[in-house]
Amino acid sequence: MASYRSHTEVALISPTVRELFAKLSHIFPNYKERMGQLELADHIESALETSSKLVIEAGTGIGKTLAYLLPVVNWVLDNGKVGVIATFTKTLQHQILHHDIPWVKRVLGDFTVSLAVGANNYLCLRRWNKLSAGELPPRIYEKLSKWIATTDTGLREEFESIATKLEATYFDEIAKIPELCAGKKCKFRDMCYYERAKRVWRQSDLIILNHHLLFADLKIGGALLPHYDVLVIDEAHNLESVAVEYFGIRLTNFQLPYNLRLLIRDLPYHELVPIVTKVESTNTQLFHEIATSFGYGTHRVTAPLRMGTMLLDTLDELINALKELQVNTPEEYELKSRYITRFDSWRYELSCFMEQTLTATVYWVEVRSSTRRDGVKVELHTAPLDIAPHLRESLWQRDIPIIFTSATLAIDNNLGYWKSTVGLDNTVDLVLPSPFDYYHNMLVYVPKYGVEPDQPGYLEFVANEVTKLIKLSHGKALVLFTNLDTMDKVYSLTLSRLPATLQQTLMKQGDRSRTGLLTSMQELGGVLFGADTYWQGIDLPGPSLVMLIITRLPFKVPDSPIVQAKIELLQSQGDNPFWKYQLPQAIMKLRQGVGRLIRRESDYGVVAILDTRIMARSYGKKFWRSLPKVKVTHSIEEVYYFLQSKERSTNPQADG
Ligand code: SF4
Repeated sequence: MASYRSHTEVALISPTVRELFAKLSHIFPNYKERMGQLELADHIESALETSSKLVIEAGTGIGKTLAYLLPVVNWVLDNGKVGVIATFTKTLQHQILHHDIPWVKRVLGDFTVSLAVGANNYLCLRRWNKLSAGELPPRIYEKLSKWIATTDTGLREEFESIATKLEATYFDEIAKIPELCAGKKCKFRDMCYYERAKRVWRQSDLIILNHHLLFADLKIGGALLPHYDVLVIDEAHNLESVAVEYFGIRLTNFQLPYNLRLLIRDLPYHELVPIVTKVESTNTQLFHEIATSFGYGTHRVTAPLRMGTMLLDTLDELINALKELQVNTPEEYELKSRYITRFDSWRYELSCFMEQTLTATVYWVEVRSSTRRDGVKVELHTAPLDIAPHLRESLWQRDIPIIFTSATLAIDNNLGYWKSTVGLDNTVDLVLPSPFDYYHNMLVYVPKYGVEPDQPGYLEFVANEVTKLIKLSHGKALVLFTNLDTMDKVYSLTLSRLPATLQQTLMKQGDRSRTGLLTSMQELGGVLFGADTYWQGIDLPGPSLVMLIITRLPFKVPDSPIVQAKIELLQSQGDNPFWKYQLPQAIMKLRQGVGRLIRRESDYGVVAILDTRIMARSYGKKFWRSLPKVKVTHSIEEVYYFLQSKERSTNPQADG
């Protein structure tokens, strides 16, 4: 179905939706009714009734969370159904649970809602009881013992809240490993935290979870989550990348030794020791050989590798030894079959990688230094080149209503590109613009003359511009890069050019955790330099961010195996990879970046795009058509006057 834009009038909104929002405004007098929100809720109600797939881009400020929660929960409660809301970030999950759900409960009455997290976030009592005190540093063992004696949830997050960063890493030693759970044969099953949590999920009207858990459930045929009747995928722009991760393979040199260590702890039979030792040493040999022949870095693999036969054979021997092993208890029997499945699937994945048996798949090797004993981390990866068939088969063909939403899914108001990346067709599409006044509150600055990326002097040019803009913003800026190396270089150049007072405010990705950096920026102000993930999910409302600097148009460059392979695939099909893939991806990412600036109605600021190709090249028009309608200037003085006038109007005392 074609994309279309909002044009509904209040009179056309369904009576149920009008009633829900009327109740909301009655209960919360400060609540402001927004046409876009009503329209969104109205479409969601229709999708629920017709069991349709609905794709919505809802601009920032529409109030999309309540727009889907109210009709979805209303439908769930009226029909005795179960709803699932999947988000990409934890932040949004917490906002839904602690901010929006209490509002929905006031409108619709009480209902049960639970937050589902992945299995490895739960304490496994069987693993804990298998650990002997000597296997952990005494201080950690004592800390874990005390916590386990009192915890009601057994959740990683709870332990992390009382542990140091280092202590928290030991949770992995006692976390549930789904493939190695003894299930019904486990003697701790009655007390199992994960089983208790699953019982709560089963009794819930609404379950909130993340995209990762949604795909983990799909990957094993729906065995993790209870049956659900409606699915809302929020932050849907991240769906493709998470799906690629789940439908691909990732093997590392550490995985087998770790699993062998667990095997010997769970099934301490001396007859296993020789074959376990043999697998371990063959694993070391193979990954050493891979590291030596490829060297450090990321390397695409385009032909079968003549390696790994010995490891495949020794894994066969291990699997046979396990099959023949006589064990003593039903729990051990269950564990034995779990280990057989685990080693068998590892073996299968290794042979897929070495022999390149998967079609429409890209293969690559990553070799990096590691802080572990052997000093090197080797990873073997595969990723499907087209995720669409996997998603169609596993999810889209289910006959349930599915709502996809995000603030950035469209290109030039059309959702076609995004839908094609995830294999969606036959959907109802809706693009609802943000109600914010971008024209008056945002100014876009592009330097008239600049040095294009890859030309000599580019770093100097960017550092000069960044320095000027940081000064104009009084140190309230976010500077976005497309790679870490350029970020580090521009950071150093800028640092040396700023006065001491502003130097102190500079922070960059990697200095601290992302949360730590953002909290510091929000609470104390400052300038943050970031790449990649900093283009999205950052919410800094208010005056802590008035200058957003995009240093380069975010084109994907063919330095990653996935990008290379996608470009080749399109070329082989006679398509132009730039127009069909790199440009649409860059437009979506630029929209994500620009979206960081105006988060509330009263926010204002400047977006500085330092890549002059947006003006000089013909494709520039495509970017502009996907951005909000705003004033564009080449004058740095105009940037100064814009910020001055906004500062004065929001803080009249600053005038004097
Ligand atoms: S049932 Fe599974 S997760 Fe729970 S304690 Fe037993 S082994 Fe661990």
